[in-house]
Amino acid sequence: MNQRPNPPMIPFIDVAAQRHRIGGAIDTAVARVLGHCQFILGPEVRAFEAELAKFCGARHAVTCASGTDALVLVLRARGIGPGDAVICPSFTFCATAEVAALVGATPVFVDVDAATFNIDANRIAGAIATAKSAGLTPKAVIPVDLFGLAADHTAVAAAAEKANLFILDDAAQAFGATFNNRRLGTFGHATATSFFPAKPLGCYGDGGAVITDDDEMADVLRSLRMHGQGSDRYDNIRIGLASRLDTIQAAILIEKLKIFPDEIAARDRVACRYAEGLGDLVVVPKVAAGSTSVWAQYTIRVAGRRRDRLAAALKAEGIPTAIYYPIPLHRQQAYKHYPVGEGGVAVSDRLAAEVISLPMHAYLDAPTQHRIIDATRRALVS
Ligand SMILES: *Cc1c(COP(=O)(O)O)cnc(C)c1O
Repeated sequence: MNQRPNPPMIPFIDVAAQRHRIGGAIDTAVARVLGHCQFILGPEVRAFEAELAKFCGARHAVTCASGTDALVLVLRARGIGPGDAVICPSFTFCATAEVAALVGATPVFVDVDAATFNIDANRIAGAIATAKSAGLTPKAVIPVDLFGLAADHTAVAAAAEKANLFILDDAAQAFGATFNNRRLGTFGHATATSFFPAKPLGCYGDGGAVITDDDEMADVLRSLRMHGQGSDRYDNIRIGLASRLDTIQAAILIEKLKIFPDEIAARDRVACRYAEGLGDLVVVPKVAAGSTSVWAQYTIRVAGRRRDRLAAALKAEGIPTAIYYPIPLHRQQAYKHYPVGEGGVAVSDRLAAEVISLPMHAYLDAPTQHRIIDATRRALVS
């Protein structure tokens, strides 16, 4: 059917494109670390933490080894553990619930809002009731800012306040996004993010950070990431972890943070082109007034077998797609025995059957994107 030679495969996320732009600066920054040899908690880590806190208008940024560790460290700092319930959405990456289970607490799943993919704050009260009737003490809620878009933090805060829940924002996919015209990082009591390479602000390995305005929390986090150290490394006042951001990664992130606002704007232009090109045919994501997305994913909804046909048709044209997430957490083998909050999780199930994500990164040029849009339109109308 296709007489022309196969067009080049389009990358889903082009991590290499950015290297062409700032590769020289990054190589210099890494060489500086190789020169001073302070590989753990070297000067670049402190410098990056200061920049990161400033970037989102928070008092503290405490870096660590991954986004998952960032979440764990906060739960540990709060003393959340066995007998406690941690409320989180079912439609998310597994780490959100994993951390609750890792500290010995019980994740309780709530549904999400179909329009935003984010936690439905109206369901938090039901999840609290479910937790209590299971004999658990509801302690925290972890709203996730999925696919780069902030959750409704006003509604989450209102629901959490009523029950005195600690709010840990999982902004691993949305660091840099805004809600009520303010960058994520100061919604809730602590915000966790990830520097996994594929995230909007990624490093060249694993990394993460906690952002908080709470001085005491920041101190405890700094202790926990160093084996629970007290006044010095050989004074251990709590059980901690070995969870630091490598100095080399911090040096890389300092350079990447400089161009991050520009990359966020570029991602937004890509999202606008998709919305213009596809909005009449499929459900495209919408961003509420006062919010901006960093578009970790550009996720459209296509029901039933049409989704499989779309993925196959695009693949045949060298265009990769991905399904985030095909199985909501309440159906995963490792998580299905945990409670689901009152009201159920029907939207999470429906979204798992409908979502499909298109290539998205800051360096997706217009001609390549038109190739994707044209192929998507042809596949959807055929
Ligand atoms: C990536 C991710 C994490 C975990 O980050 P890592 O750095 O990979 O440990 C946590 N939550 C969400 C929603 C994520 O997307």
